[in-house]
Amino acid sequence: MTSEPILPRIRPEIAALPPYKQGRPAAADGFKLSSNENPFDPLPGVVEALRAHTALNRYPDATAARLRSALGEKYGVDADHVLVAAGSVSLLAAFLQAAASTGDEVVYAWRSFEAYPGLVLVAGATSVQVPCRADGGHDLDAMAAAVTDRTRCILLCTPNNPTGRVITRTEFAAFVARVPADVLILLDEAYAEFVTDADAVDGLGERVFEAHPNVVVLRTFSKAYGLAALRLGYAIGHPRVLDGARSTMIPLSVTAQAEAAGIASLAHEDQVIARVAALVERRERLLAGLRAAGWDVPDSQANFVWLPTSDPAVAEAFDAAGLVVRPFPDGVRISVGEEESIDRVLAVARSLR
Ligand SMILES: *Cc1c(COP(=O)(O)O)cnc(C)c1O
Repeated sequence: MTSEPILPRIRPEIAALPPYKQGRPAAADGFKLSSNENPFDPLPGVVEALRAHTALNRYPDATAARLRSALGEKYGVDADHVLVAAGSVSLLAAFLQAAASTGDEVVYAWRSFEAYPGLVLVAGATSVQVPCRADGGHDLDAMAAAVTDRTRCILLCTPNNPTGRVITRTEFAAFVARVPADVLILLDEAYAEFVTDADAVDGLGERVFEAHPNVVVLRTFSKAYGLAALRLGYAIGHPRVLDGARSTMIPLSVTAQAEAAGIASLAHEDQVIARVAALVERRERLLAGLRAAGWDVPDSQANFVWLPTSDPAVAEAFDAAGLVVRPFPDGVRISVGEEESIDRVLAVARSLR
């Protein structure tokens, strides 16, 4: 009789977590529309910058000073207002660990970014999930009402992943005014570059962190900039708040290659903007086509659309057509991908109505 080996003890709440499931790759003649990736090949200038970084034996600059100053210049802030990390999910983790621990509460909308519940749990804190409005937007009144004296952090996702809805400038201002000034607000703007709605909050354009040092804006190079493979994100906020997050982070996790690619992307931003405009045009075509086919889809300001449905046959139909989408219990999220994917998505959507 073989007995089970004795394994080291893992925190029970960690052991109970489901393992991370990555979006499957698509078949050769299919499209991967499950991870909101950028469908374009890397910019030539970025590939060139990567080729120039072959000193693989040397540690990177721990502070990514050149990239921070390039970002500071772009947004008109001192470099000490910028913190870079290996993806903005790393930043979410760092700020949560810095602000919240056992017994503390973290408030966020639900459904929202899949990573939030796990990150809060790993920090040891308690998730307070506030249901989204029927249109998929954050219910900010209910979120403000959910703040207690145990609340240490609030996560706002705009445009919201996976529903695509934005928080408006007016809604955001009213919300921040209701939240105690010592509660950290993380404004997760991973899809900000795709926003065309003039009423949407823009944490960096409006420099909200100046009037409200408890607000930190998070952005990423993974989506609009198409650098998901390199892992690069940044936070902009009050330097002392950034210090707290930095203290929890593993030093040297931003590689020299990622930093160089980020700098090169900013130097070729006109090309990034042109690609984003093409994706926005595809998004609008997708939304219009889905509505014409009889789907009641919420307005999306991101590089994906949300099909509200609890019918598992919907995701299966996309799958059968070679389209890898992201199914959730209450809907299907479809990334805006290659030009040729748009008509194929619409054909499947029409066949389901
Ligand atoms: C994709 C995404 C991120 C960015 O993740 P990276 O770690 O920068 O790749 C952050 N927040 C949301 C809501 C996202 O969808």
